[in-house]
Amino acid sequence: MLTIMEALQKAAAYFARQGIPSARLDAEVLLAHVLELERIDLYIQHDRPLIKGEIDAYRQLLQERTKGVPVPYLTGRREFFSREFFVNPSVLIPRPETELLVEAAADWCKGLKAPLIVDVGTGSGIIAITLALLLPESKVVGVDVSAEALAVARRNADHHGAEVEFRQGDLLCPLQDLKGKLDAIIANPPYIAEGEWEELPREVQQEPALALLGGVDGLDFYRRLLLEGAAMLLPGGLLALEVGWGQADKVAAMAGDHWRVERTIPDYAGIPRVIMLTRRAG
Ligand code: GLN
Repeated sequence: MLTIMEALQKAAAYFARQGIPSARLDAEVLLAHVLELERIDLYIQHDRPLIKGEIDAYRQLLQERTKGVPVPYLTGRREFFSREFFVNPSVLIPRPETELLVEAAADWCKGLKAPLIVDVGTGSGIIAITLALLLPESKVVGVDVSAEALAVARRNADHHGAEVEFRQGDLLCPLQDLKGKLDAIIANPPYIAEGEWEELPREVQQEPALALLGGVDGLDFYRRLLLEGAAMLLPGGLLALEVGWGQADKVAAMAGDHWRVERTIPDYAGIPRVIMLTRRAG
């Protein structure tokens, strides 16, 4: 008979042998998921014996993890801005850096009366939903090209009781009726250069290429948002973008006459991660 603590130790050792970087943490999160417990409960109930069904389910997840499946796809959940969001392999797994983008965008919109905000490439809906909850007066629209992603986003919005309108389509195309009326466009677009795909960790390669790849140099979506975004915004309106390593300067350099670069925001590693631009009047 295997207890919780024994199962954990075995699993963590197995993961470590298989070269999984966060072996112990992953072992804990997956066992907590199988047992429908919080991680802390694994310690409180450390000598609880596991039944066969639980062990079988755990073993199955351990195997998938060693094949490179990220933990959030195995548990179906990931925390963002202290809320739990459903995820599956049709959406990008939320990253902590994206909280900086949401925070900066929410701050900027705070002074506005009933702002109209669009989250482009909403994926699991984390940005749109968090903004709608932080700014109850706002109207938020989430756009994605993927119907599968929008199904996840809608489920998340329902789960959190957030009022977000979701529309399917390419970038700003499904928003023509809102042309010139938006207060803010927020996006964490795909920004990996195509040639870098092979070098991505195998876990990242399990995420949708559609959510990761931004053309030959990774900057395609920034180019398009700068080109197509100005006409969508009110004068003075905000374009807030998450960017990859070394991309903030390149995006600023592409901004052109329609935009004023307000500021960039560094992430926890000191890398500029968010760039805030506003539409110049006229
Ligand atoms: N907006 C979602 C996120 O930030 C998805 C982004 C994407 O798929 N590139 O996680």
